[in-house]
Amino acid sequence: LQSKFPDLGLTIFSRMSALAQETGAINLSQGFPDFAVDADLQAGVTQAMAAGHNQYAPMPGLPALRAAIAAKFASAYGLAVDANSEITVTAGATQALYTAIAAVLRAGDEALILEPAYDSYAPAIVAQGALPVRVALAPPSFAVDWDAVAAAITPRTRLIIVNNPNNPATSVFSRADLDALAAIAERHDLLVLSDEVYEHLVFDGRQHASVLSHAGLRARSFAVYSFGKTFHATGWKIGYCVATPELTAEFRKLHQYLVFSVSTPMQAALAQHLAEPTHWQGLAGFYQAKRDRLAPGLEAAGFRLLPSAGTYFQLADYRAIRPDLGELAFAEWLTREYGVASIPVSAFYADGRDHGLVRFCFAKREDTLDAAIAKLGRLA
Ligand code: PMP
Ligand code: GLN
Repeated sequence: LQSKFPDLGLTIFSRMSALAQETGAINLSQGFPDFAVDADLQAGVTQAMAAGHNQYAPMPGLPALRAAIAAKFASAYGLAVDANSEITVTAGATQALYTAIAAVLRAGDEALILEPAYDSYAPAIVAQGALPVRVALAPPSFAVDWDAVAAAITPRTRLIIVNNPNNPATSVFSRADLDALAAIAERHDLLVLSDEVYEHLVFDGRQHASVLSHAGLRARSFAVYSFGKTFHATGWKIGYCVATPELTAEFRKLHQYLVFSVSTPMQAALAQHLAEPTHWQGLAGFYQAKRDRLAPGLEAAGFRLLPSAGTYFQLADYRAIRPDLGELAFAEWLTREYGVASIPVSAFYADGRDHGLVRFCFAKREDTLDAAIAKLGRLA
């Protein structure tokens, strides 16, 4: 077989998680919580199964879940989202991202992505015969240079993909970023795909600036979310896409043939759980405390930390510890020699550029974070 994707290998998340497992290291690489999913939410799944909710859900998602999602947008952001025509429940954010990309890109189109970029965007673009055009953001702030974005636009540009809060940069958009994005999208008649899976994980009193809250962007954006992040259940693989009725209709044309619908009992349980705002309102504080528990331990070990404004990741500059190693080599060395796994940030740049940075995930129990700090303490 002549591979259609000769350049695609195993993702960095699979690779570093496998190394952590093989070496018995504490896994702060791939982003997933190591603590339990809420017991009531779990019980909701078995209750739904016992009550007979075991057959196909309606293609766009269970009405009760879509209603709860719409209520969340109203209560969290004061936003009106129509449950019937604007929300589609998907197999994680990953399927929502893929579906939106496949629904709008034609062969030969260009799609702008901002690097460091989450790893699923470019392959989804390439699979459509379209071309990812990359604009690089730089540490420490990873602020978007919107003039550079505008300069990367050509007559073939159709879509711009943004990720806010940003994995792995941990930066968040301001209202001014939304205005700048909207001005560019309107001027060039572009669609926007906004990956907002970390919407509730914004720290130090910041407010999440969703594309859905900006009138200009609301009309031309797909916004993507994940219950994996919000309810600590990455293995459930349930997310959703919000877009205007017109964009949603195009999205659903493909969604119905990619998966048709996703797990009925889990949707039923999520609908109940989401309906109680306290189940997601405290998330920022919950994760901010974990960020602030890990940070001093990393600093004491000799890392220089970049500010983490959102997501459940912390970027750390290791060059005071091992200036001689590139990011991947450092991450592997730290895993093998000190028993803590991380992710090299170079994995999020197509050219593999190296800033001397690794990403630690702090979505972990306190004892896990403390054990990692103790292991890294041997570096000091
Ligand atoms: N986008 C970003 C930025 C992510 O970090 C992740 C997963 N961690 C996803 C999308 C995928 O989400 P899901 O697991 O719901 O498919
Ligand atoms: N999004 C997770 C991370 O950034 C990983 C998801 C995956 O393994 N594909 O670590």
